[in-house]
Amino acid sequence: MTLPVRDDLRGAVPYGAPQLDVAVRLNTNENPYSPPPEVLADLGAALAEAAATLNRYPDREALALRTDLAAYLGHVAEGTWAANGSNEVIQQLLQAFGGPGRTALGFEPSYSMHRLIALGTGTAWAAEQRAGDFTIRNAAEAVARHAPDVTFLCSPNNPTGTAIPASVVAEVYDATAGMVVVDEAYAEFSHAPSAVALLPGRPRLVVTRTMSKAFALAGARVGYLAADPAVVDALRLVRLPYHLSALTQAAARVALRHRDVLLRDVETLKSERDRLVEALPVTVPSDANFVLFGAAEGTWQALLDRGVLVRDVGLLGWLRVTAGRPEENDAFLDALREVTR
Ligand SMILES: *Cc1c(COP(=O)(O)O)cnc(C)c1O
Repeated sequence: MTLPVRDDLRGAVPYGAPQLDVAVRLNTNENPYSPPPEVLADLGAALAEAAATLNRYPDREALALRTDLAAYLGHVAEGTWAANGSNEVIQQLLQAFGGPGRTALGFEPSYSMHRLIALGTGTAWAAEQRAGDFTIRNAAEAVARHAPDVTFLCSPNNPTGTAIPASVVAEVYDATAGMVVVDEAYAEFSHAPSAVALLPGRPRLVVTRTMSKAFALAGARVGYLAADPAVVDALRLVRLPYHLSALTQAAARVALRHRDVLLRDVETLKSERDRLVEALPVTVPSDANFVLFGAAEGTWQALLDRGVLVRDVGLLGWLRVTAGRPEENDAFLDALREVTR
């Protein structure tokens, strides 16, 4: 029997990289450093305290967390919003500003969840191709042509690592009457300044962030955004009540309090990222915690056979490797040398 699933979902396959148990996992852009002992101790205490009132619903507005996030960003709490991963933030944005009869635009190759969340929310997807060096050359013209309700700019871009200059974000904003969402999941790893600086005077601009990468908190599921407070008001119309658990809010606040120690690891990862770019024969300059590198067919499996898991992002001739701990990156480079010998 076939279920009466939506026509546009029939035959679709779920998103997700293989979660394989191998020695060196460099495939999902996670932070390889687990939270250090002093952070773990504070996490334990904060979670125990939050657990004592788990019979009650959490603060629906997550105001304490949003205040902390706003302080981190240099933004206002009323214009800062949090959810279960930036994927949920993006879903709420498309629920509020996309949906049936509306269109979202992306510049591919890019983060495929933008397209998939558009599909899930009934938003039509329009795609423009990036240039051969994975930069965006035709942004304003493309936006004017498609007249999208939501435009996604991923900077630094997953899977290519390419940052988008602030001037391009501003051009796109001026060329559209729709929302412009800059996905800055990798902002802390970038040489380029954040689009948060562009927010004043741009009420249709949204910058999304995550604690999954730089803050080493992928398992806690915390994403957030900075925008005009009116954007947050719109998201309140579509968010589920009490969407962010008391445990999640407490964990995120502890991580923010310890940002000095957590972001110190980001510096290590940035230099490891640069080391990978230098060591690999064919790469794209990266502003993120991963590197896209040229690879012949069969390389993904050959690396896996040697205990190294990287990401096949569906780009012919390329694979993506996450910057891991120095010894993991050595293992990757050694395995790749063996494979290409
Ligand atoms: C990893 C990633 C995210 C998402 O992360 P969450 O874990 O849902 O916060 C969002 N955007 C891009 C481009 C990413 O690579």
